[in-house]
Amino acid sequence: MELYREKLLSELSEIVGKDGVLADEPMSRHTTFRIGGPADYFVMPSRNEEILEIIRLCRRESVPYYIIGNGSNLLVGDRGVRGVVIQIFRRMSGAHAEGERLYVQAGTLLSKAAAAAYEASLTGLEFASGIPGTMGGALRMNAGAYGGEMKMVTESADVLTPEGEIVTLPVAELGMAYRTSVIAKNDYVALGAVLHLQKGSREEIKEKMDDLRRRRTEKQPLEYGSAGSTFKRPEGYFAGKLIDDAGLRGFRIGDAQVSEKHCGFVINRGNATAAEVVELMNQVADRVEEKFGVRLEPEVKRIGEF
Ligand SMILES: Cc1cc2nc3c(=O)[nH]c(=O)nc-3n(C[C@H](O)[C@H](O)[C@H](O)COP(=O)(O)OP(=O)(O)OC[C@H]3O[C@@H](n4cnc5c(N)ncnc54)[C@H](O)[C@@H]3O)c2cc1C
Repeated sequence: MELYREKLLSELSEIVGKDGVLADEPMSRHTTFRIGGPADYFVMPSRNEEILEIIRLCRRESVPYYIIGNGSNLLVGDRGVRGVVIQIFRRMSGAHAEGERLYVQAGTLLSKAAAAAYEASLTGLEFASGIPGTMGGALRMNAGAYGGEMKMVTESADVLTPEGEIVTLPVAELGMAYRTSVIAKNDYVALGAVLHLQKGSREEIKEKMDDLRRRRTEKQPLEYGSAGSTFKRPEGYFAGKLIDDAGLRGFRIGDAQVSEKHCGFVINRGNATAAEVVELMNQVADRVEEKFGVRLEPEVKRIGEF
């Protein structure tokens, strides 16, 4: 077993370099919930070809793999992740503008992409400036806020298919809908995107971003670990309001709590475990269903062993 582990670690190092691989890496360090046990192998590629090679290696060795970005929509189990976590983040980050287009690598934080748009006097991406995810995660989830969503600004995305092909898909083929896309459905890896924005006034862009930042700070419990909205918005309702109306504001199991500031968020008050978050989510969904006949579905993605 140990020999096999060493062999896999050495093969991963050959692909991404020694400093691009970590063994038994606590996932609490890589999720905004600050929760999650160790990943057997944690790799940080810096090129598309490396991602392809890592996936090939995992397939050949029948080792499961998971793609993550900034871990801002993830709940990782307390027992960690068996297999390889491939983090597409800082080493694959960059955005540059050409005319009305913004070319963004998958690992770029949305705040950085929005800052690059602002620098180039491009408007349209302000809505995303406070979403703490990467472009890859945002494309997969069709992230959205304050009336905007990725679908509205995406012209095309480069994806890696499970067959190992890199293809460019125009937005019409990306199937972007409420918190989903073909990237999710077909298990594609997002590598980058071309966003089509409009020329605007830098002053107005800045004002809008500042205003949205203020609104977030006022309404969201940003001082605690969380994964944002824990549940999807059920059609015709708001998850946070249903939770509040069910009397669950501040409801707590261990260090996992329904935020008192925004009932749509489950927060980590310090040392919450994934098990506590799951128990809290189940109880919240049950109580809301009993009271209002609406079943809340998780927006947060679960990975690993619970
Ligand atoms: C405080 C807070 C506020 C938030 N506000 C919002 C909001 O206003 N609107 C909103 O939509 N979301 C919001 N979120 C949730 C989250 O930021 C978004 O869903 C974001 O798009 C996730 O990006 P990520 O890089 O963190 O992805 P991760 O959490 O790392 O992964 C999420 C999913 O995307 C997949 N994924 C990640 N990168 C790639 C890639 N390159 N290719 C293919 N799949 C990939 C993962 O496999 C996983 O299934 C918020 C979260 C927090 C903590």
